[in-house]
Amino acid sequence: MADSVEIESKYAPPLAECAHCDHMLPQGLGEKECKVCGAVCRVSHQPTIDSLTDEALPCPHCNTVIVAGTDERPVEMTCGACMGSFTLTAKIVKVEIDCPGCERTLRIRPRPGTRELKCPACESAFNVTF
Ligand SMILES: [Zn+2]
Ligand SMILES: [Zn+2]
Ligand SMILES: [Zn+2]
Repeated sequence: MADSVEIESKYAPPLAECAHCDHMLPQGLGEKECKVCGAVCRVSHQPTIDSLTDEALPCPHCNTVIVAGTDERPVEMTCGACMGSFTLTAKIVKVEIDCPGCERTLRIRPRPGTRELKCPACESAFNVTF
């Protein structure tokens, strides 16, 4: 079990928009293909890269603080103190959407394109596009 520990990163790049059609690009850094129009855009965000590279977190096995040293996520980490390993995973970004029917705030994980949401409170269905 010890080698299946996953820790979610504290940092994530801001959600980027396609330069061609303004829809949301898949989350992450590097070359991303727009799911809506197919254009390939380069996503770069130096402050996030710096934060990810410098991200320090306690080892889940022995609490020794480890610095990630890379902006790649997910990445396999091995603790130098206890040799325990764990996976540092990408932070999952969620956005808040207000239900048009009852103004309840829904927290969802955005995905490019259009999809239908159903409000758990008032059961009205509506479309969101990213
Ligand atoms: Zn596009
Ligand atoms: Zn450790
Ligand atoms: Zn609602």
